[in-house]
Amino acid sequence: MDDDRLDLLGMTRGAAIAAARARLVRGAGLAPAIHRMAHREGRFEPERVGASDASAAAWRARFRVGSAVLVRTLEEPDPVRTTRTAKAVLGSADGLEYETVRIPIGEHRESQCVSSQIGCAMGCRFCETALLGKRRDLSPAEIVGQVVLARRELGWQARRIVFQGMGEPLDALDAVATAIAVLGDSHGLGFAQDDFTLCTAGHVDGLRRLAGLALPRVNLSLSLNVADDERRAAIMPIARRWSLAELQAALVALRPRRNWQLGIHVCLMPGINDRRADAEAIAAFCLPLGRVMVHLIPYNPGSAALTRPPDEAELVRYVGWLREAGLPVRRRITKGRSVMAACGQLGNRALRRAGARGFPGQDLNLN
Ligand code: SF4
Repeated sequence: MDDDRLDLLGMTRGAAIAAARARLVRGAGLAPAIHRMAHREGRFEPERVGASDASAAAWRARFRVGSAVLVRTLEEPDPVRTTRTAKAVLGSADGLEYETVRIPIGEHRESQCVSSQIGCAMGCRFCETALLGKRRDLSPAEIVGQVVLARRELGWQARRIVFQGMGEPLDALDAVATAIAVLGDSHGLGFAQDDFTLCTAGHVDGLRRLAGLALPRVNLSLSLNVADDERRAAIMPIARRWSLAELQAALVALRPRRNWQLGIHVCLMPGINDRRADAEAIAAFCLPLGRVMVHLIPYNPGSAALTRPPDEAELVRYVGWLREAGLPVRRRITKGRSVMAACGQLGNRALRRAGARGFPGQDLNLN
């Protein structure tokens, strides 16, 4: 049976009030309180904010709060930190799975990596998600729901949201932009625009559309990896659709504010992009882009490994070449590799097997 209830997690307070007025004969005045409870507590209990039995029943017939179930979580062992890298696998109402990851930043802060799609169509060869293909975009409510459910069920408290989970966020830009507006609603979780980072493989149409949206303070990172069209296309099929020149032009045109800094992700893959000439080509690509920060990420092998992870000496040498070429560089410490939660590892074999089986129910198995 089709579920035509509206999910409050996909709505700002204003949208929830308008929808309640349009769909309910009585009890629409409770919309602000019900919306607030939905977003801040992840609960849908109209009675707690004064709804009569009849009004609560009408709310439940027309609205819902979230549709995902927590299937399992995996936490990376860490003897030192109390806040650990963890991955949560969520089950959708149509029987698919998607993932979200908590990443500790220091001892007391954390960011949450969220998915924008189930699977991904971009086909990056170093990425586990690519093996799933694209099943579908997530809805705004499913994106917001990753944050709300993780807070409610797992106690995650991220204050930064990174769209670097499953999917290419600029390929699902309508849902992503709505989710950012909803998560930014001060009556809900109240994230600021600069609390968000979109990570793209170089979706040029999406970059052009992004330029027209009112998101000037949202951060952007480009997964560049190789700055040579032919060699980039060999590991990132998106490079066959848009050349580096087109990508560079779109980024130059996008620059939303004067002090804007673009993140450049380079996943270091021994034997693939680890030569001095590769570092110099990255620098040449970045030169016209203004302020950039290169994040050097050690390759994390998935189930179909392209190569091995780089060793410490290779990482240090490559950082040196990038710096000599004039680029600021930060090294990304690998977190979550042991639980397939590191960059490029989301979407494991179990997810590929999870077709339209459905889920037996909630499984709060904290490993
Ligand atoms: S790296 Fe990102 S864009 Fe590329 S296949 Fe994986 S999820 Fe998609």
